[in-house]
Amino acid sequence: MRTTRAQCPGCKSKEFEPVFSRKEWTSFVEGENDQRRRFARAMDENASLAFENMLLCSLCGTAFTDFVPPDSALSDFYQQYYGNSGYLAKASRKVSLNIRRIFVLKLLTRGRRFIDVGCNVGCAVEAARRNGFAATGLELDATAIEHAESLFPANRFIVGGVTAAPVGEVFDLVYCTEVIEHVPDTASFIDSISKLVAPGGILSLTCPEAGARDALIGMPELRPPEHLTLFSHQGIKSALAPWFKRVLVLPNFKSGNQVIAFKA
Ligand SMILES: [Zn+2]
Repeated sequence: MRTTRAQCPGCKSKEFEPVFSRKEWTSFVEGENDQRRRFARAMDENASLAFENMLLCSLCGTAFTDFVPPDSALSDFYQQYYGNSGYLAKASRKVSLNIRRIFVLKLLTRGRRFIDVGCNVGCAVEAARRNGFAATGLELDATAIEHAESLFPANRFIVGGVTAAPVGEVFDLVYCTEVIEHVPDTASFIDSISKLVAPGGILSLTCPEAGARDALIGMPELRPPEHLTLFSHQGIKSALAPWFKRVLVLPNFKSGNQVIAFKA
């Protein structure tokens, strides 16, 4: 069954309040012509996927669902709702974009072992390889991994989540883009991902950012049960801080959190 969240996934505060109910969100998205209408129906049909209220942390401004689904219900949901066609069409552009990003990150760490947690069809993994890294990608979606292996065969790809990395291996650059907002148990996810970072290595993480309270219901990134947490700048910083020596949340011209965390 679904799990109740008793504290803010960002700063761990127990001071939070409901911003809107699932009913209110459902009637909002019914007026919008997008995928979220189908998400609302999926939650109506399967109570284990559903939240009751969207909560907002009074201290750090992180927005999160009051309930999170069990892994089994989420993986059924993803199989029903996702395909990779969009990613495949954009693959070469995504490789180029990631080559530039990883080129900059490379300046912050000495070693050349790279892993992407939630690599989809492997564009960032290929970009890391072209930057001189020995590159690995982890991805829960087995079909995406099949595409990755045929598109970018010079890399290592593994079907699985953050705990699927080969035991004992660590990486100088751990990359994780737009994944943590999907994860039901963010603390255990961060614990696992921090263990992948080698001493002196870095974690580069991006995720959508919580908006202002009044704007929250209209945010396209607010899409349960796919997105369960929208961290504020302070929220993602607090969530990562116990596991890292230093956490930088970069100023960003677009909305969204871009974080670099340094391992001691
Ligand atoms: Zn908080």
